[in-house]
Amino acid sequence: MKKEGVLIGLLFLLIFACSNTNQEEQIIEPTKNVVEKKVIIIGIDGCRPDALTAANTPNLDALIANGTYSLDARNTGITISGPGWTSMLTGVWENKHNVVDNTFNSYNYTAYPHLFKRIEDYNSDFKTVSVAQWHPINTKVVKSTADVIVNSEDSTLDTEKKAVNELTSNELTAMFIHFDDVDHAGHSTGFSLNNDNYINAIEKVDQSIGNVISALKNRENYDKEDWLVIVGTDHGGIANNHGGTTDEERTIFIIASGDNIPNKEIAKTTTQTTIPNSENCLNSNSELKFDADGSIEISDNVAHSFGTSQDFSIECRVKSDYAGDVHIVGKKNWDNGVLPGYIFSFKTNTQKFKVNVGDGTNRVDLESTVITDNEWHTVSATFDRDGMLKVYVDGVFFNETSMASIGNLNNNFPFSIGADGNNKYKFKGSVAEVRIFNTLLSDEDISDWKCKVLDNNHPKYDNLQGHWKLDEGTGSIITDSSSKSANGTLTGGNWADISNEVQVNVHNYDHTPRTVDAVITALNHLCIPIQDSWNLEGISLIETNCSKN
Ligand SMILES: [Zn+2]
Repeated sequence: MKKEGVLIGLLFLLIFACSNTNQEEQIIEPTKNVVEKKVIIIGIDGCRPDALTAANTPNLDALIANGTYSLDARNTGITISGPGWTSMLTGVWENKHNVVDNTFNSYNYTAYPHLFKRIEDYNSDFKTVSVAQWHPINTKVVKSTADVIVNSEDSTLDTEKKAVNELTSNELTAMFIHFDDVDHAGHSTGFSLNNDNYINAIEKVDQSIGNVISALKNRENYDKEDWLVIVGTDHGGIANNHGGTTDEERTIFIIASGDNIPNKEIAKTTTQTTIPNSENCLNSNSELKFDADGSIEISDNVAHSFGTSQDFSIECRVKSDYAGDVHIVGKKNWDNGVLPGYIFSFKTNTQKFKVNVGDGTNRVDLESTVITDNEWHTVSATFDRDGMLKVYVDGVFFNETSMASIGNLNNNFPFSIGADGNNKYKFKGSVAEVRIFNTLLSDEDISDWKCKVLDNNHPKYDNLQGHWKLDEGTGSIITDSSSKSANGTLTGGNWADISNEVQVNVHNYDHTPRTVDAVITALNHLCIPIQDSWNLEGISLIETNCSKN
């Protein structure tokens, strides 16, 4: 595309030079003989922009170099695929289209149909094609609107192959392609630029996008076509999931690439501000912070395994602003709550702190209250094996439920802090003062010691099976102060100095693009007049350029 621009420029200079030589007044402006405007929207499910930047993506880089883009765009709605893709493809948020989950049950298609319905209503001769690796996009949102609907196999390569196949049709006006493997990699191994599996998935999709763009440029009438290429994602992710409101989940990218589109980036603005540090009543000089980037493993130890009948208690201090599906402390494979073991986590839909136990057949889950206000809280649980599981927050009893149905808790996983036994479900926040007892703490024990470093004055000190203060401030060895001396190994995370004030970056995304901008951008490119009655949201990423057509 750029070479063509240079060629036209040279042609123009040549004509201008000739005109001058001939002393003629009239300047003939060269025009590209464009006959048809066309649009392709490429969706990469669950692709974090920071990982996109870290990955080697020559084909997406080329699109960025020839367009307007943002790596700080936002999904300000629900950060899961059903609502996300519906917002991108209808141009309105879920308060209008009503898709709030992946069932699409209450979708208001009549008032807020897929972009292709707007295109077909404008001119039914326009051919629209939707190729989706995640089929609900076709079955629930596109419905019967598109002329061609292709449900690809669950692979990047098959999606590419089927998309390339459709690109040979001369009638084609608008196409959507959905790639799902990046989201799969995020769920199985982590949405992180430090995760090679996630990066590899992005690089594979980039290669497929390269082949799609090659097929587009090889179209028979390509020199008479003006293509807008939009690339975007529905949501980001954190640890192994998404659906929450963190920057990691909300921040998305969008690219609008093509001839006549200025090359510019729309970036967030960042300012620094000073805030008072959250006080940890333990008076330590440092705190261990995880950014969904690390864990502590304490090797499988009989001291932390409570079999079928041993009562026990666990406590720790937690500071976090993210109530995701994470493993804070425990001894468990968190892929499934039924699996044997115990864990402190959050209930993602209510954002409440919760405790789970399972024995391989049954599970018990107990919620307490929301603690993710970025202040320190003490959370405690007592496990009475033929009675009640009780949960306490900041020394106060909150909730209880019978755990008599739960049998053997034992497994071979380490006792871990910040991630589960498979180093997944990574926690975002700080942890301190982790304690395990092989007995039940009383209400008084919990209340009296909620804000102190444990020592031998504790009434249940003889029952202590593990005590990690997490106040080392440096290094990767986490000392167990109990008589078991089961030291842990820290991977990732970082030790933060606790001073009275901390400098934090405040990001402003008010002016960056949104998920819903894609539809209005595509309609503008196709020169389809936008009706007020459609109630579209979003702002076009491109200027309308319709008079020249
Ligand atoms: Zn997902």
